[in-house]
Amino acid sequence: MTQREREVRQQRFQWPPAPLVEQALVRSADESATVTIAPPRGAREYVRDLWAHFERLVLAPTVMPAGQAMAQYEADAPGLYCERCGGTIGPFEQREFGCGACHDQRLRCERMVRLGAYEGELAQWVGVLKFQRVRPYGVELGRRLGAALREAGVLEGLPPGGLVVQAVPMSRRRRMGRGIEHAQVIAKAVGAALGAPVARGLWRAHRPSQLDVPAGQREANVRGTIGLRRNACFSGQRVVLVDDVRTTGATIEAAARGVLDMKRGARVAGPRGADSVWGAVVSVTPRD
Ligand SMILES: [Zn+2]
Repeated sequence: MTQREREVRQQRFQWPPAPLVEQALVRSADESATVTIAPPRGAREYVRDLWAHFERLVLAPTVMPAGQAMAQYEADAPGLYCERCGGTIGPFEQREFGCGACHDQRLRCERMVRLGAYEGELAQWVGVLKFQRVRPYGVELGRRLGAALREAGVLEGLPPGGLVVQAVPMSRRRRMGRGIEHAQVIAKAVGAALGAPVARGLWRAHRPSQLDVPAGQREANVRGTIGLRRNACFSGQRVVLVDDVRTTGATIEAAARGVLDMKRGARVAGPRGADSVWGAVVSVTPRD
């Protein structure tokens, strides 16, 4: 570390802070670090900078209204992704029993409906809902997911009251930590869009977040940790399982087993299990 760089570091911890632009480290062609130091500033600039910091720290997060942010967004047409796992597919890749990635997997969800791949704006909006806890983003995403489900024919052939919406549950501990049950927010909007009730029929035990577990261990991490609540019953109904992101599919698979009232190791649905399960996710992580 050069003397100059050390000076810059120290500057970063000064209060009141100088705008980052003026602290910017400019590397000259010979790679020796040079620093642009803020010129002495008047009271007006000082107040302006302080206000900018206040805005960033206290008023943030201020976000654009969800409807406005998503006004131009169009969900993926059904042919762009696999109906079975929700993964992005190329032309002619869809086969009767899934795509190249899922045809050899056993999946309890009869169909998977999504808005798009987990990238770009869609990933940002999921983040705004989940980490900034801006509910209207979940409501708007759920409304659109409901429309996509309707278009995919989720209500076809069902008697009135034959459809129930259920969020992939969160453990109580995670719910307290997050301060928002984002899948539930989305699920409520999906239910409203489809005119279907939203159930709370699943329990979930606390485990490390799937995000902190390598992909190969996620199935084991979540196995047996989601189940049907003692007083819940989905028999005679189709259940739409709602979540924000599908990555390996292990979580939604475990939730589907719960909805089907399948005990650990069981191969068939239990007496209180749903007749069929559909998955509905805002986004699906692209395969690499
Ligand atoms: Zn597939």
